[in-house]
Amino acid sequence: METIELLGKPVADKIYLKISDKVNKLLSNNIVPKLSAILVGDDPASQIYINKKNEMFLKMNCKSEIHHFSENTKNSQLIDIINKLNKDKSVHGILIQLPLPDHLDSNKILESINPNKDVDGFHPINSGYLFQGDPKYIPCTPQGCLEIIKYYGINVKSKHVVIIGRSNIVGKPLMILLSQKFDFGNATVTICHSHTQDLSEHTKRADIIIVAAGQPKLLKRSMIKEGVIILDVGINRVNDNSKKGYYIVGDADYNELLGKAFAITPVPRGVGPMTIAMLLYNTVRSAEKSITLYN
Ligand code: NAD
Repeated sequence: METIELLGKPVADKIYLKISDKVNKLLSNNIVPKLSAILVGDDPASQIYINKKNEMFLKMNCKSEIHHFSENTKNSQLIDIINKLNKDKSVHGILIQLPLPDHLDSNKILESINPNKDVDGFHPINSGYLFQGDPKYIPCTPQGCLEIIKYYGINVKSKHVVIIGRSNIVGKPLMILLSQKFDFGNATVTICHSHTQDLSEHTKRADIIIVAAGQPKLLKRSMIKEGVIILDVGINRVNDNSKKGYYIVGDADYNELLGKAFAITPVPRGVGPMTIAMLLYNTVRSAEKSITLYN
């Protein structure tokens, strides 16, 4: 069997086309969608991610600003700036680049964002709406996975989906999305995590596997059944002797799975490009909603 490579780029491009139409309409109404991102500390990976987001916003004729705080910033300083951004009508989306340093209370900080500007979808009010089957903002990476599923016509209804990883950012929202009575839901979902006994017992029964564990090459050939579809969310840096000093690898052992899986997202070039596309999409939607909110 020749495994199909599920690339993120064509899916993201389709989303950008949709965004572009929406941005043009907003611009003609003198509204420029704007993201305010908050970065704390000097983690190089976080800086790379936030700069990529910033660049894409500018490329799409939107505005983006980064508020960069030092590593030893206090909760209260971040909450102060968030309160200002909450009130600023020119700001449509507020993003906290995670993870925050350990001394900060991530939950408290995320909760201080106005849920209407919570374009990452991490506020408990937005998690609640998602849980109830009425999502307002869906976290970007799970939403990106859903767009890949739609674009490639992957049928999830009545299928057994095994998700590896139960984070609030990826695993849990996906569990809810895929098991709900949605158009691209109605799957039977098993969620696995670090305390799951015998992971392969579950993965071998899966029609679709979504792996978001942050463990390089965790998913091996012996752990899957023939014909499975795999979405690999993992982005892991493995040190090497290259100029950069590392290479990027997913949570699935891609080369091993070729020929046995029906289809798989590669890393990089799979799920990765979707996250920024969905962030832009959510921010533009927030800008659209601001017309009725503030007028
Ligand atoms: P996390 O560390 O918050 O959660 C990892 C989850 O995996 C946990 O629930 C843990 O219980 C589970 N896990 C870890 N080892 C396991 C094992 N051996 N067996 C079963 N379960 C195991 O991570 P996260 O924020 O959800 O991110 C997961 C991965 O996805 C990371 O590699 C991250 O870089 C990547 N990621 C990618 C994007 C993207 O844009 N493509 C966005 C977010 C996260």
